[in-house]
Amino acid sequence: MAARLFHYPFTSGATALANRYSVDKLLQGRALERARRRGLERVHQALDGEIRASPLDPELELLSHPYARMLLSCLNDPYLLRRYATAESKYLWGEMLQEPEETLLRLAAELGLDAKTGNGGLRVHFADYVALSAGMGGKWKLVNRTVATGYVRVSREELARLAQERIRERILQSLPLRVTPEIREALQPPTAQISPLLEARKKQMEAQGLIQADPQAFPPCIQALLQGIKTGLTHPGRFALTSFLWTVGLPEEEILRIYQDFPDYNEEVTLYQVRHIGGKFGAGTKYTPPGCAAMKTYGICTNPDQYCEKMNEEGKGHPLTYYRRHSRTARPPVSQKKTEE
Ligand code: SF4
Repeated sequence: MAARLFHYPFTSGATALANRYSVDKLLQGRALERARRRGLERVHQALDGEIRASPLDPELELLSHPYARMLLSCLNDPYLLRRYATAESKYLWGEMLQEPEETLLRLAAELGLDAKTGNGGLRVHFADYVALSAGMGGKWKLVNRTVATGYVRVSREELARLAQERIRERILQSLPLRVTPEIREALQPPTAQISPLLEARKKQMEAQGLIQADPQAFPPCIQALLQGIKTGLTHPGRFALTSFLWTVGLPEEEILRIYQDFPDYNEEVTLYQVRHIGGKFGAGTKYTPPGCAAMKTYGICTNPDQYCEKMNEEGKGHPLTYYRRHSRTARPPVSQKKTEE
């Protein structure tokens, strides 16, 4: 395990080792030049969609992670952060697949996953399984699994896949780091190198209609509606959520996937409703969510925060205004579109 430690920056041992190096050393130390190059390469490769293995010395490979994280924090772009979290977790998934079962279980434990072996195979605690497989669908649905005494039976590959999801979550939760002006200045040359590539990539994705929405910027009401899916939504709630998700650019299949958790999910009805709100029928009218005042009347303005308050004081209370103010990937206003009142 110890020899493989360097492949897994989330382990306590790897963290302890990385902490032996000061930020200054990481940014300036001549001996760490190759770690910096690899860190920059990680970000470039994440932008391209795949982080590939490197022949670098394991310790330098490990140190390339904090360097990449500092770069990402200076750039602080939600699209890039998501892309990095996905690419990095996928890369580590590939590494985990090569591990013997014992190591895989130790890695799962480092990630706070309650997994164990016995009684004929690997098992993951029900709560972890449900949280990490949410949205995976198909064979991952609980009705298709063997569950006994609070644990769900999984294969080695599936345990690695759940661990991958936990890694992705952790990366997203931990970034961006707080960076000092000194760090920002030291990292100016590499960030200036990435910025134009990032902007070009985002433009290309936007042109193809592929850019993802930025869930971190969703207003509290939409977050609450998303959380309420499993227990059911009122008609206004369903309308507000669907029209919001369409407007911020979520693809149809993603919206449909969200509704699969609905207690009375009916594929045909959901498909019709989602497409209707997205303007896929008839005159092609695309709907936008109601403004804050109407959301309040419907009882679906939930947990408004200080930003909501400010926006409403300015007379601009709208869930989409909230989103545009908080998201760096938001699209331009959609004033010509229609709201169902
Ligand atoms: S004030 Fe508006 S944006 Fe904020 S939670 Fe209520 S409806 Fe949503």
